[in-house]
Parts: sequence; C-alpha cells; structure tokens
Amino acid sequence: MSCPSDTSSSALNVLIFLGAPGAGKGSLAEKCVKELGFVQLSTGNLCRKHIADRTEIGEQIDLIIKSGRLVPDSLIVDMVADWFEKQRGKASTVILDGFPRTIAQAEALRKLFKENFPTVRLSVIKLEISDDVVINRLCSRIVCENKACQAVYSTVSGSQLAPKKPFTCDLCEGALIVRADDTEESVRKRLQIYHQHEHDLLDFYTSIEQLVMKLSVERPLIEVFDEFVRIMGLDDR
Ligand code: AMP
Repeated sequence: MSCPSDTSSSALNVLIFLGAPGAGKGSLAEKCVKELGFVQLSTGNLCRKHIADRTEIGEQIDLIIKSGRLVPDSLIVDMVADWFEKQRGKASTVILDGFPRTIAQAEALRKLFKENFPTVRLSVIKLEISDDVVINRLCSRIVCENKACQAVYSTVSGSQLAPKKPFTCDLCEGALIVRADDTEESVRKRLQIYHQHEHDLLDFYTSIEQLVMKLSVERPLIEVFDEFVRIMGLDDR
C-alpha cells in the first residue's frame, strides 16, 4: 500500500463496526449515513461491485464469496487503501463495515493510518448478537440488486426493515433479491470464520490499548441507533 502523506488538516474519525455477518453492521451504518451524514465503507459491497462489474478482481473472488470464505487480505487491504485515498479531505466520519476482519487487515489498517492519515481518531464498536438470531435474520434478508445501492431489507412482515413495496427498494426502486451467500450452509461457514478471527482481533485491540465499545443489537434498529448515539456521546447533535 503506498499513498502520499496526509496534507489535510481536518481530523478524520473512523469507526470500526466489528460484528458477525447479519449483526446489522450495514443497516446501522446506513442509518448513520442518513441521520448523521457519516460515510460508509462496506468491503462486502466493494467486493460485490467488482463481481457485478466483472473486473479481474471480481472473477478471482466470485466463488470465494459464494462459499462464505474470506477474500485474501492483500486484495481487501488494497481496495481499502484506494478507497481512503479517494476520500482524502472529503469525509469527516467514516464507518468501516466488515473491515478489518483478520489480524493482518487490522495491522495493515494501523500502518495505513500511521503513515498516511496520522490525524485519524479511531473508535471500535462491537455489535453483540447470538448465532441463532443471526441465522434467522439472514434467512429472511433481501438486498437491493443495484450494486450502487445494495440497501438491506427483511422479508418478515411488520419488520422495520420491510420494504414499502414488496421486493422493491425504497431508495432506488431496484429489485430486491436474496444474496448468493445467504444460504444456511454459507451463513454457518461465515459465522465459524467470524468467531475464529473475533478473539484475535479483540486481543489485538487490547494490545494497542484501543477501547472496544459494546452495543447489543438484538433489538429493533431504531433502539440500536439510539443506543449507538448515546454511547458515542452524540446525544446533543
Ligand atoms: P459482508 O457483506 O460484509 O457480509 O461480506 C460478504 C463477503 O465478502 C464475505 O463473506 C467475504 O467473502 C467478503 N469480504 C467482505 N469483507 C471482507 C474482509 N474484510 N476480508 C475478507 N473478505 C471480506
């Protein structure tokens, strides 16, 4: 990863959402974008965009993603470094949704900030949820097929995440589809991989004296958002 050094004087806040697949990282991030003007970087969305655009990277990662495994660290880290470079001077608060997922990624991110964005203020928020709730959620998840949108909805009627019109995105009117990796087999694989890495990531944050805030997400999104605002000290926004 090579980037020129930081020339902007404004501080960049970066929030890492650490949580299992289906914990609602994307939904909470989208709400923060809408209500608080934050910017979201979802590495999963970036990967799916590569696949939809049939880029060289997309061809390499298509099967990996369908099977629920992790994309190689080097590919993901380069995507993230490019993204931050393009955002230079634009965003003031960025949510990292689904990154870093391994120690190698966490170390690479630390190096990227140290060398190129030294004014970054980092917060880590761990979204807490049980595996059973995750499996139920993901089996009813539908997403916008428009890769520039990828908004997330639920098929459970009465859910706050239910779309206004059936199988149609509220935001861009794109069709809502089931994600290729939301099969039960793939979800179980993704959960297993998540738990393998979660422990190491938490140890890593402890070792660098980075506080990890906990947020219980087994409740409606609006309550999760209110609690997020409270723990981040944004109540008087
Ligand atoms: P997500 O949308 O965050 O659930 O990610 C969907 C899939 O994209 C994951 O199961 C991985 O295959 C891939 N992916 C997303 N982010 C990462 C990451 N940080 N490291 C490796 N693979 C990733």
